[in-house]
Amino acid sequence: MPPAARPRPRPEILQIAPYVAGESKLAGNRTIKLSSNEGAFGPPPAAQAAFAATAPELHRYPDGGATALRQAIGRTFGLDPERIVCGNGSDDLLQMLALSYAGRGDEIIMSAHGFVYYQIAGEYAGARVVKAAERDMKTDVDAMLAQVSAHTRIVFVANPNNPTGSMLTRSELHRLRAGLPEEVLLVIDSAYAEYVDHAEYEAGAALVDAAPNTVMTRTFSKMFGLGGARIGWCYAPPEIIDVFQRVRGPFNVSLPGQAAAIAALSEPGWIETGRAHNSQWRDWLAAQLTERGIKVWPSVGNFILADFGTPDAARAADTHLRAQGIIVRGVAGYGLPHCLRITIGLEHEVRAVAEAMADFTVPGQ
Ligand SMILES: *Cc1c(COP(=O)(O)O)cnc(C)c1O
Repeated sequence: MPPAARPRPRPEILQIAPYVAGESKLAGNRTIKLSSNEGAFGPPPAAQAAFAATAPELHRYPDGGATALRQAIGRTFGLDPERIVCGNGSDDLLQMLALSYAGRGDEIIMSAHGFVYYQIAGEYAGARVVKAAERDMKTDVDAMLAQVSAHTRIVFVANPNNPTGSMLTRSELHRLRAGLPEEVLLVIDSAYAEYVDHAEYEAGAALVDAAPNTVMTRTFSKMFGLGGARIGWCYAPPEIIDVFQRVRGPFNVSLPGQAAAIAALSEPGWIETGRAHNSQWRDWLAAQLTERGIKVWPSVGNFILADFGTPDAARAADTHLRAQGIIVRGVAGYGLPHCLRITIGLEHEVRAVAEAMADFTVPGQ
């Protein structure tokens, strides 16, 4: 019999390596999950209540324009709600940008250890994904600019970057924008902006205001503890807002998700408390690991990147942590097989990591 005819996706689709999420369960009784950069404190209580209160209304479609949510975001961050679009997570927005601004024959640029979803979205669009070398686990503006060609359509930069934790300063970010051709879209993914406690940090709104070619994406999945509800947003120039309105799913943010996000923004002191906790325990854990001879790259996010020198040593550390019920994130998929990314959780979780690593010896040392 001849082989059956069947639908085939565009050939480039089958070249995409599926995203691998952080694992969540181990066999033993204790599981400390520090593998997905989820907020240490879970969802804000007000968000949980608002989410639950929508249950009797779940037969209703949500407000497709997410009007009340955009207004709440605008109030919180001092931005014009007309220039905000919400998404089913910020991944939804990143994908729409890739598909709308790039296609076959085009190129998108990201840094060597940049957030892996840029690659998936770019390949989905059919574009070639070009990676610029980093310097000391940090986006290198000059290396990125050197990759620009006549085919470049989009540059994606996470600031701070996941999984390295490094950040570009305001002046580096502005230098990147100034060095790009005006017709190249710069996407500044500030998923961890709420955690950053650094005088030279800028989440990106000023660059969005300055020209019609820059977008800032944000999320409720990290500081606001709503990864499971899938709510992202972006701040963009009017022309790009217009593109989103044409291509987005008509109801791309769920009813309970919108309610939870609005309530999360009203939780008193949530960002300040979360940021202070994160800075304290991130720096504490980094110091503990450093004392034990493990290299830790500087991070401004809610995670650290521990560098064990070799893939074997990183695997041994991972096995050692798992044996004690702790799940962290292997980052071989980011070209970093010698590293592990560890999310900053609650105090007892961070202490558990330090205690577990106290009796770990790097193989071969
Ligand atoms: C977690 C993360 C996102 C995805 O956020 P969602 O809003 O949950 O889709 C985007 N960018 C970076 C750099 C992230 O780490």
